[in-house]
Amino acid sequence: MAVVLDLLSKDARPRHPEKAHRPDQPLARKPDWIRVKAPGSPKWAETHRIVRENGLVTVCEEAGCPNIGECWEKKHATFMIMGDTCTRACAFCNVKTGLPQALDRNEPESVSAAVEKLGLKHVVITSVDRDDLSDGGAGHFAAVIEAIRLRSPATTIEVLTPDFLRKDGALETVVRARPDVFNHNLETVPSKYLTVRPGARYFHSIRLLQRVKELDPTLFTKSGIMVGLGEERNEVLQLMDDLRSAEVDFLTIGQYLQPTRKHHPVVRFVPPDEFKAYETTAYAKGFLLVSATPLTRSSHHAGDDFAKLRAARLAKLGA
Ligand code: SF4
Repeated sequence: MAVVLDLLSKDARPRHPEKAHRPDQPLARKPDWIRVKAPGSPKWAETHRIVRENGLVTVCEEAGCPNIGECWEKKHATFMIMGDTCTRACAFCNVKTGLPQALDRNEPESVSAAVEKLGLKHVVITSVDRDDLSDGGAGHFAAVIEAIRLRSPATTIEVLTPDFLRKDGALETVVRARPDVFNHNLETVPSKYLTVRPGARYFHSIRLLQRVKELDPTLFTKSGIMVGLGEERNEVLQLMDDLRSAEVDFLTIGQYLQPTRKHHPVVRFVPPDEFKAYETTAYAKGFLLVSATPLTRSSHHAGDDFAKLRAARLAKLGA
């Protein structure tokens, strides 16, 4: 369980100061179908060592991802660049909120070195929101992509970006750096934005994904949502149509899990057969690839999924 008051760190500041005054929400017991591999194997420990030695932050740890035992065992970590502190305060997210530190100019090189040491064929790079920076951190994303390309030219690169709201030219900077996959998560249906993702705008996020395809149709685009936040099935189906209108290739749907008592409660644990039904519907709507299971996360199995994406595009072109 993640903590709201981090009393172990040097400054002992609250991890989520904006949530501290909120009433506690009940923590629902997880159903039997949500079971994960415990972390701690020798390969997990090696991934942990390389992350620490390079002074890196991972979303696996910061978000308290349930898949960390499985992913790190396979040396698959998702790097979170531009620090561990986010300028937004989404109701579902466990990443620390506050005023971030200055950018670490050595970070592109550190991430690139770690990718090489881990021998990654496919890497996922994400970040905190950096509304404090004039370009939202787009230039830093581009620098990280370029540094990885220099050391590991065969590694494919997936970025999972913030929405760059009110940052003209930021998206174009990232697209020009030519990641292989551009991911931006919608997180939830539009009716839940005010309570779940208050700093963001649903149609801005849709437009961002659409714009990526306009700028470079060769890039794969990807987006994901969590279910169990109180959304209606019809709203999820409408969201799928919105993403297809933006020509998004890959959709991920996973169960929302509540990080602490101060976060948005789990309204419902969606059973596996409903995930399967979402998957079937999404394929019928034209997505090249769909991952919809309770433990699906944006970066879960991202390398294998990238190979499937490429194969699906080739099959479609050959059809
Ligand atoms: S699913 Fe993604 S965030 Fe979670 S442990 Fe795996 S790589 Fe990290």
